[in-house]
Amino acid sequence: MSDYLVKALAFQGNMRAYAVCSTKLVGEAQRRHDTWPTASAALGRALTATTMMAATLKGDEKLTVKIEGGGPIGAIITDANAKGEARGYVTNPHVHFELNRRGKLDVARAVGTNGFLSVAKDLGMKEMFTGQVPLVSGELGEDFTYYYVTSEQIPSSVGVGVLVNPDNSILAAGGFLIQVMPGASEEMIDFLERRLRHIPSISNMVENGLTPEEMLYTILDQKNVDILDRLPVTFKCTCSKERTERALIGLGKDEIRAMIEEDGKAEVVCHFCNETYHFDKSELEELMKVSPK
Ligand code: ZN
Repeated sequence: MSDYLVKALAFQGNMRAYAVCSTKLVGEAQRRHDTWPTASAALGRALTATTMMAATLKGDEKLTVKIEGGGPIGAIITDANAKGEARGYVTNPHVHFELNRRGKLDVARAVGTNGFLSVAKDLGMKEMFTGQVPLVSGELGEDFTYYYVTSEQIPSSVGVGVLVNPDNSILAAGGFLIQVMPGASEEMIDFLERRLRHIPSISNMVENGLTPEEMLYTILDQKNVDILDRLPVTFKCTCSKERTERALIGLGKDEIRAMIEEDGKAEVVCHFCNETYHFDKSELEELMKVSPK
């Protein structure tokens, strides 16, 4: 199954619902950054949630999520746009622990619980929205839920799950985001809360290969759900050799000259996707010529 996200309304528009299959997206992030299983789960959960959050945006809008919990993986940085393109990284990809008491990858131990989750939305026209909440669990699903409830005052439920193969590749990843609109009745909210307590866990749904539609039907019951849209989801970075050249030019002639004299070449690695851009001596000399500083 290719990765995709569905946008839906439930209970005649009184809830908004999103679900995503993100196995290939998280798999690409795992391969690029060589994350170990616990770090893969942390980065994968964050990427999955970020992709769904970005699906609430429009046009060229995009957002960046930063999670810093004081744990051994350091910071998790993810960003995504309304077109289903996402990317992300963690400071220390080589983090893995024994499974926790529930037999799950111990994401909270890797992320830490003493810190913040912050969201910066770029809404175009120089308009920015930023929100920040303290981490409440470090398992990330609950932390994204808490973010929506506290920072955006939207009662929400976020579930994200990542399963890792014995060879460290990604077996499956996915998630859901349900948001309750102001017009929802007590009955509707009770129904949702009851279902969320009794349905299989998100990891379970992901492991069983449920499609995004099936995830929403499992949570909300098919008769309550109207699927509005399907969107492909991919790992995509905005870096390029050209952008990297511009960044080097921006450093100025002296910096570029120092690179030529010290190494005779330069390697620039993109944090977000771990792509390496190589520049040999003659390329650096060209860049030095055009640098205005
Ligand atoms: Zn990149």
